[in-house]
Amino acid sequence: MGKVMVIGCGGVASVAIHKICQNSEVFSELCIASRTVSKCDALKEKLQGTTKTKITTAQVDADNVEELTALIKKEQPEVVLNLALPYQDLTIMDACLAAGVHYIDTANYEPEDTAKFEYKWQWAYREKYEKAGLTALLGSGFDPGVTSVFSAYALKYYFDEINYIDILDCNAGDHGYPFATNFNPEINIREVSAKGSYWEDGHWVETEPMEIKRVYNFPEIGEKDMYLLHHEEIESLALNIPGIKRIRFFMTFGESYLTHLRCLEDVGMTSIEPIMYEGKEIVPLQFLKAVLPDPSSLGPRTKGKTNIGCIFIGKKDGQEKKLYIYNTCDHQECYKEVGSQAVAYTTGVPAMIGAMMVMTGTWKKPGVYNMEEFDPDPFMDALNKWGLPWKISEDPELVD
Ligand code: NDP
Repeated sequence: MGKVMVIGCGGVASVAIHKICQNSEVFSELCIASRTVSKCDALKEKLQGTTKTKITTAQVDADNVEELTALIKKEQPEVVLNLALPYQDLTIMDACLAAGVHYIDTANYEPEDTAKFEYKWQWAYREKYEKAGLTALLGSGFDPGVTSVFSAYALKYYFDEINYIDILDCNAGDHGYPFATNFNPEINIREVSAKGSYWEDGHWVETEPMEIKRVYNFPEIGEKDMYLLHHEEIESLALNIPGIKRIRFFMTFGESYLTHLRCLEDVGMTSIEPIMYEGKEIVPLQFLKAVLPDPSSLGPRTKGKTNIGCIFIGKKDGQEKKLYIYNTCDHQECYKEVGSQAVAYTTGVPAMIGAMMVMTGTWKKPGVYNMEEFDPDPFMDALNKWGLPWKISEDPELVD
């Protein structure tokens, strides 16, 4: 049917690329473009005998709009799937506009020198995308992404009004290392060491990092400690879910992870302020990333499951109603299928599905959109088909 260009070739991209290659009817051609072209070539080598999708590779610096625009114009994909880092979102959006192609990503823009993520920078492109007749689909991972689609689905079929959403992200996988992160360590540590926040009665309530802790009994996993974090889908759901009173996001962390993190913070290793070291400027967090295990190496070692989903409380026909929609995913099963652990899998699969929605015209309208702004049905069907089946509980345990 058409050509997709994937930018980035790390943990999430590797899963999305495997899934693109399983879906050759939609993705007849694929260009993998990233900073280190040898990684793209290695993946091409691994996959090209197993798929009908025609694969090419390219080296690109996604911080450089001109270089990127020239590459997109040369390759002529219908859609660009940005699986580089959140720092590159705006340059890739600019290049897509200049080259006239649709844009999809999984994480919202974050300036490299400030650990703060908000949609305002990307929402500022709405008019430009509308005028160009192009679609930009923001946040097509699991959270944000699937959690946003779950919200649209709950609203469409189960509620007249949703008042409370708790998004729960549980990773009960064990990789055997005392400390490692499941996706890009720099992005992950910036996220968890930032202040927490949630949306209540029309405004943000800020908390200290890890200040709010709850214990939750996750289906298929059991009891885990979870902590309230700021998370990007709260910002768009607060606008797009009418009648909403509160949205919170919780993520599970084990005691060992938190103790190591506290210690690294205390000695300054998580700082993003550059320092001079032996005459060279380095960023402590980037140095830490270099010494931590590469998330893509965790696949063979990680055992256990993830459970990510949303608890909704609202009203249907005047009655109070609660609902839990979630997916569980097994690290070892993911590794068997695509050679990656479940955190990359649960992000890479929806990234492929988002690209498919736009490529097939199922989700396509000029402008910049978050996932909950489209009809959830085709995406929910695709989750079942492509490896992330979801379940519904109408009597879930609630978070107090
Ligand atoms: P990785 O660090 O594993 O991969 C990032 C890739 O981007 C690497 O291949 C890297 O190249 C490439 N890259 C970085 N900078 C540039 C550049 N300037 N030009 C070209 N390529 C570049 O990250 P992950 O795969 O773990 O994460 C990818 C994205 O997914 C991130 O934005 C992350 O925030 C998001 N994410 C979203 C989730 C969700 O549920 N919504 C969950 C988890 C992650 P090189 O190989 O040279 O380092």
